[in-house]
Amino acid sequence: MPTAYHLTSLPEGVEDTMENMPEPLIRWRFKANEKLSFSSATSVRRIVGLLTDSLSPNDPRPVIPLGRGDPSDLSCFRTTTVAEDAIVESARSAKLNGYSPAVGILPARRAVAEYLSKNLPYTLSHDDVFLTVGCVQAIEAITSVLARADANILLPRPGFPYYELRATCSSLEVRHFDLLPERGWEVDLAGVERLADENTVALVLINPGNPSGNVFTYYHLKKVAETARRLGIMVIADEVYAHLAFGSIPFTPMGVFGSITPVITLGSISKRWIVPGWRIGWLVTTDPNGILKKHGVVDSIKEFLNTCCEPATVIQGAIPRILERTEHDFFSGILNILKQTSDICYEMIKDIPCITCPHKPEGAMFVMVKLNLSMLDGVKDDLDFCMKLAKEESVIVLPGIAVGMKNWLRVTIAVEPHSLIEGLERIKVFNKRHAKEK
Ligand SMILES: *Cc1c(COP(=O)(O)O)cnc(C)c1O
Repeated sequence: MPTAYHLTSLPEGVEDTMENMPEPLIRWRFKANEKLSFSSATSVRRIVGLLTDSLSPNDPRPVIPLGRGDPSDLSCFRTTTVAEDAIVESARSAKLNGYSPAVGILPARRAVAEYLSKNLPYTLSHDDVFLTVGCVQAIEAITSVLARADANILLPRPGFPYYELRATCSSLEVRHFDLLPERGWEVDLAGVERLADENTVALVLINPGNPSGNVFTYYHLKKVAETARRLGIMVIADEVYAHLAFGSIPFTPMGVFGSITPVITLGSISKRWIVPGWRIGWLVTTDPNGILKKHGVVDSIKEFLNTCCEPATVIQGAIPRILERTEHDFFSGILNILKQTSDICYEMIKDIPCITCPHKPEGAMFVMVKLNLSMLDGVKDDLDFCMKLAKEESVIVLPGIAVGMKNWLRVTIAVEPHSLIEGLERIKVFNKRHAKEK
């Protein structure tokens, strides 16, 4: 067979046929998966990309990044040396250079089980823990496992768009229930009951909330679990911001209610330790009655992980030390900054007429604010607001459409206080410039 490598000298007697055929005559059989282009249209990365493109190159002022959730490059959000040393030690041990089992290495699974058990009324075993490439792979795993024909999943609005993305890729039908801003972003439980039917398999709850910045109370979580039990569905508890609660409501893990309804807890070290680039997380069955196991979900999780790539063994090896030895001062230092920036944000927004904040943030790294377009001239919607704000003031804020709430904005509070103040001042100037004449 002639190949492209033999363009100049074909062996004698071999006919030079296909390679000289003009391109339009060849019928290429491959085609890209159209589901993927659908999902990237709504991705946060793509929207932040659009906003970055609209920044003005002539503005000498620094860009204020209030659109993203990764503060790891800011010195006040640097991770603890305990975590850095754990990675070094792990690399130097020469025991963690090999492949990992698909579910993760035993010491790391055991350490995650112990870490989570501290806040639960029962004890988890390492068998309940599956290590993943960040929390996103845990989302990928559970949406893939649940995507049998006709199944549907209930997702919060506003929410974290990666769930929609993965569900779409797995052909798992998505239905949205509302989080109610006027009730501190509590779940619209009546809405959940209306949405669910015999093909509903799970409800996703993110606590502390992204993008809503709320922390659910113990009592509300219990009601969610009871509703799920009545509907015969599991709760997928995205606790990637676990313990990042700086308001008056303490963080309660959903697994506390695992005996009411089976709970799958998703988490990672990305947010609490501010190392999202280390790519390690977990999927944990917090299900003391063993219902998930009985219904084949646990086996299916293992099957799925057999088809994927594991988190790097050297990072897994650092997990016991990171989870066991991180000092209290590191956590309280991060919480203090977030508390301070949430106060600044809440107070300064009161002085910006075109946005209102219905609920002061008390957890995670964001606040949702409502845009009042009737006060602005020549601003079409939230995306238009964010594009013009980027262009005129070099401030990046995420439009609500990226998280399912049109004409809202998501503002990051995980920034240095002076940078947040500067960003909000620029938004105020922008508001003045575009204010409707009365
Ligand atoms: C950041 C985030 C994730 C992904 O976490 P990684 O550990 O970085 O993969 C998942 N869920 C929510 C709600 C997040 O904000």
